[in-house]
Amino acid sequence: MNPIIRADFPMLSRTIDGIPLVYLDSAATSLKPRAAIDAERAYSTDFTANVHRGTSTISEEASYHYEAARRLVARFIGAEPACVIMTPNTSISLGMVAAGLGLTSEDTVLCSPNSHHSNLLPWMRRGTIAYVDGDPLEPLDPDVVRKAIEVHRPRVIAFGWVSNVNGAVSPAAKLCKIAREFGVISVVDAAQAAPHLPIDVKELDCDFLAFSGHKMLGPTGTGVLWGRREALECLEPLVIGGGTVDRVSLRDYTMKGLPSRLEPGTPNIAGAIGLGAALEYLIDLGRDQIAAHGRELSMAMRAALDGLADARILMAGTSGLQIPIASVVPIGWGISSDVICRTLSDTFRVMTRSGFHCAHPLFDGQGFEQGAVRLSAYIYNSVEEINLAAQALCEIVSVLGGRRSVTTAYPS
Ligand code: PMP
Repeated sequence: MNPIIRADFPMLSRTIDGIPLVYLDSAATSLKPRAAIDAERAYSTDFTANVHRGTSTISEEASYHYEAARRLVARFIGAEPACVIMTPNTSISLGMVAAGLGLTSEDTVLCSPNSHHSNLLPWMRRGTIAYVDGDPLEPLDPDVVRKAIEVHRPRVIAFGWVSNVNGAVSPAAKLCKIAREFGVISVVDAAQAAPHLPIDVKELDCDFLAFSGHKMLGPTGTGVLWGRREALECLEPLVIGGGTVDRVSLRDYTMKGLPSRLEPGTPNIAGAIGLGAALEYLIDLGRDQIAAHGRELSMAMRAALDGLADARILMAGTSGLQIPIASVVPIGWGISSDVICRTLSDTFRVMTRSGFHCAHPLFDGQGFEQGAVRLSAYIYNSVEEINLAAQALCEIVSVLGGRRSVTTAYPS
């Protein structure tokens, strides 16, 4: 990617003991560009006031910037601003939907076996889960989903658009169309899709869509719940309080309309404004360029990790869209993914993530008890960084794994 882009990210000039760091953990949270950091900070330095609470000059300024951020989110996903609910993250967005639909144990929720815990637990808690059959490392197959709907007659289908373990991209629009045919409520977890793929909620035609601002250059504590207007209007708010009501009497109240009815209390004003700036940055960069760079990084990842001995590389297939997320399962290394992750960080300054990636059912089902080291890249990463990480993994397995594994010459 253009070095000018790298210069926009202050963290990329950070060194540890004089060594520049390589950040390959964007699926957990992305780095933040200066534009987003400055916009977030400006709220605290220039126009601190609560939003929608008064008519003072500063409160109006803060409200203006907060609502401008909402409009940017709306533009980013082709939505109307009133249907964009600002939340702290994907987990809360999904939890709001699961809680607000009034599910009972009689209601079946169709889930995917590769789902992130945040898209399983809320459903497990409120309804009865059924799973779509198939290999959890593969994208969901529309025919299999159709069959599962016919068999289980769910009230809701909740699936992840892009896997946070191996970047598998499910055909979200096709799946939502099938759900609509059967009158099933569709909930799309777009936490890993929104940073990489163009989204138009009209084309997607789901009922609810959840994603995290902090995985797409925004500040932590920012997320989004989008819903079809009627779907959001029927959703029972998880919490009500200041900001959500028009009138309150001693025994009764009337709720505000969207989006306020689903945003109780003081929101993360600074964060939302930072998210707006982050999305403006992504819009300026261009979705096609982001996707093209993602493809280049994915191909580099696949090639670089291919020569790694005694490891199972979890990375979605080469056809169609490619997301630069790969998990390395150290099958025969004799060390856990945590040790590898720490060594990558301490010795090579390569930041990754180890463990089970909030996908215990997937890991249990495959028997990967050592977990996996996940490499996830984004717009600011280079092919060289990916090669460096792969080379570091080779060295780790040859030293810590007690065996020589490097047979492939990696490009420097
Ligand atoms: N779903 C998926 C697919 C994710 O990757 C993540 C984050 N790892 C989440 C949901 C939860 O996101 P957050 O932590 O922002 O709530």
